[in-house]
Amino acid sequence: MAGKKDKSDLSRLPKVDIVLQEKVLDVWKGSTLATAAVREVLEMVRKDAAAHLPTMVDPAEVASRAANLLQDRFAPQLRRVINGTGIIIHTNLGRSPLSEAAIQAVEQAARSYSTLEYDLDKGRRGSRHFLVREMLLALTGAEDALVANNNASALLLALTALSKRKQVIVSRGELVEIGGSFRIPDICRLSGAKMVEVGTTNRTRIADYRKEVSDKTGLLLRVHPSNFRVVGFTEGVTMPELVKLGEESGVPVVNDLGSGALVDVSKLSGLPREPLVSEAVAEGASVVTFSGDKLLGGPQAGIAVGRKEVIEKMRRHPLMRVVRPDKLSFAALDATLRAYLRPASLADELPVWTMLHARPETLDEWARPLVSKLEKKATKTGLTIGLGDSQATSGGGSLPDETLPSLAIRFEGPARALNSLQKRLRLGEPSVIGYLKDGTFFLDIRTMIIEDRDEICDALTRALLKT
Ligand SMILES: *Cc1c(COP(=O)(O)O)cnc(C)c1O
Repeated sequence: MAGKKDKSDLSRLPKVDIVLQEKVLDVWKGSTLATAAVREVLEMVRKDAAAHLPTMVDPAEVASRAANLLQDRFAPQLRRVINGTGIIIHTNLGRSPLSEAAIQAVEQAARSYSTLEYDLDKGRRGSRHFLVREMLLALTGAEDALVANNNASALLLALTALSKRKQVIVSRGELVEIGGSFRIPDICRLSGAKMVEVGTTNRTRIADYRKEVSDKTGLLLRVHPSNFRVVGFTEGVTMPELVKLGEESGVPVVNDLGSGALVDVSKLSGLPREPLVSEAVAEGASVVTFSGDKLLGGPQAGIAVGRKEVIEKMRRHPLMRVVRPDKLSFAALDATLRAYLRPASLADELPVWTMLHARPETLDEWARPLVSKLEKKATKTGLTIGLGDSQATSGGGSLPDETLPSLAIRFEGPARALNSLQKRLRLGEPSVIGYLKDGTFFLDIRTMIIEDRDEICDALTRALLKT
């Protein structure tokens, strides 16, 4: 509402108390946030008036602006996203979507009390650390297992419990950074272990480790190069060699697998093999660590399996209390691991495996009706829509450089229209995220097939209408 631009406008500004009585602010009653928001809006109005801009003096209008401000400011920040990037385990988008069974387990654990730390047989306190242990032993062949908050914390726990004030020997080829701020040297320092680097970036031999092993050595560390590949003149040490050295010198060997896999990826998809946890255990490592939300397809978690005496030492360490997962994670992890007990139906149960497994024909069948439905709407906005080849990846620091042939919905047209479409999709509800490449906008179908097609169609329709 435009008022007159003279000083009297300021005197006509509504009082805070009056504005607070407006109906739109009822939902915020009892919170000091509403008062603060109204003051904030009035302050803006005052500034407008001082700048001789149209000034609001109607209490309803001020209240409605304050309500909008509050709604925007406290809108949920964790929004749903439809992933059209073709990156299956997309760390920025929350890694693995959970299975239906895991979702139900989370819901039940959230809704009621549970046996998180209660032994029903004995009628007394139990421990959360044994909740999924039996399944982990069956699935990996290890003697013992524990679950931490994530793989980084499982590794930190291993380093702290086994090597604090001692040396950790690690190859210079494995001093990796796993995105964000997770760097092997940092985590070593944090644990209080002293890192001893051996070998070179591209070549490390067992003799390099042997030279450094002494009574000051706490453990030998192997880190799976999960998000990069060194090619050319390379030489590495095999796990059996490292384990043999560890045994000879009485030093545990920790193998950080990163993603790790409980079943052979190559059998369920066109991708090459990712190291199996069971193989890493069979090679004799004292501890093998891996993530719960990478190829495993479950919730954020870090799993450590291995030798009984070593895992027990980790479990008893005070840091275990700091890095323990909560009940919701345990519920989801339990249901996820359960799916691996029946590997034949894995691709039907776990979204990550559904996406890895999907055949090009399936993707085509899924997408074709969607594209036909949208064709006219796209043309109206000056864009063409079609189906075309795309390359999906497993992501999540597993199988770098390896792509899965995939299919994508492609939008072509003037750059401005494409940019606008991309933005509208991104800001829509749900948000739809794709990628631009060589002047074409792609929505990879492999990472979208687990979602409801009609809902995606609606989201695309809305975005096209506004483009
Ligand atoms: C991903 C990864 C980690 C970190 O795992 P989070 O579960 O994200 O904490 C550690 N090591 C390797 C080799 C990884 O690939």
